[in-house]
Amino acid sequence: MRALGHSDIAALASPRDLVPVIAEAMRQVSARRVEMPLRFVVPLAPGEGFGVMTGAMQGIGHGAKLLTLKRREKGSSHTGALILFDRGTGAPTAIMDSGLATALRTAAASAVATQALARAEAATLAILGTGEQAHFHIEAIRTIRPIRRVLIWGRSPDKAAALAAKFSEARAASSIAEACAEADIICAVTSASTPILQAAYLPEGVHVNAVGASLPSAQEIAPDLYGACRAFVDYRLSADAQAGELIEARKLGIVPSGRELPEIGEVLLGRAPGRADARERTLYRSLGLIAQDLAIAEFLLRRAIETGRGTVIDLYN
Ligand code: NDP
Repeated sequence: MRALGHSDIAALASPRDLVPVIAEAMRQVSARRVEMPLRFVVPLAPGEGFGVMTGAMQGIGHGAKLLTLKRREKGSSHTGALILFDRGTGAPTAIMDSGLATALRTAAASAVATQALARAEAATLAILGTGEQAHFHIEAIRTIRPIRRVLIWGRSPDKAAALAAKFSEARAASSIAEACAEADIICAVTSASTPILQAAYLPEGVHVNAVGASLPSAQEIAPDLYGACRAFVDYRLSADAQAGELIEARKLGIVPSGRELPEIGEVLLGRAPGRADARERTLYRSLGLIAQDLAIAEFLLRRAIETGRGTVIDLYN
């Protein structure tokens, strides 16, 4: 088994490398070539939990991601380990830092959705949030659209300014309304548990990636986005069970009870239509899938073997 730390992962993959890896994973998800029970979170303390995600993916292997979910001033909010097993031997082949792997794969998933749904000429990106996901979303979205302007809103203006200072085309916005007013793409990447983004903020033709709020009890975007946008999800089973604002939108009749939301993988497979025209607003609701983690783990392991990175450990000696 090979152990890959944070610096190994950073050296082995860039956001650009991971977009096609995640696109293929999303096609596999929608072709139902992946077994994925719903993730569960063991409560540890208020705002803190132990998250468990497991799955098996044809051609890749099976595995688990085990992580402590906890807000911190420094370091990842998703600290733990991602473990990949070999289908043939049944033994684990890789263990790696789940924080950076999660940040990279989530941003790559939003990039895949943006590539499929945003207007080709989209040049203005609004980022709501200033944490790890905010940073990696800027990096990933820049690789697939000609981004000339990035407006960053954060509830801590100093953090928005500090993140903006890292990207030449970025500046801090003083309100969500200001960040979104001229946006072609909006990424909501906060830990807010009550809605910060309402439909009224969305300009015509925008594409929204809604990434925060992973629990049914939390809402980062308002349910009315489902009425204003053509909405897509990563995986219907988890979105219907775990996306708090979608559950609420169904209760309110904004999404009629019988209507199934298309998956991004179905768009990539040509089984569902994408954006209809330049004026339509589109929404991608990301909850995050173990299939994305397994696909990234397999990619990183392959590169690590090719380049000799990581530490080989023998568990059974
Ligand atoms: P970080 O802890 O690094 O950053 C969180 C950000 O959210 C900070 O900017 C923080 O501001 C802000 N924030 C927290 N509470 C609020 C609030 N009530 N209103 C507005 N902003 C708020 O987290 P990450 O970047 O790692 O993750 C961001 C979100 O994405 C989380 O909800 C996480 O669960 C989710 N996520 C989703 C994944 C997916 O696959 N869909 C995968 C990984 C994460 P400040 O620093 O000022 O407190």
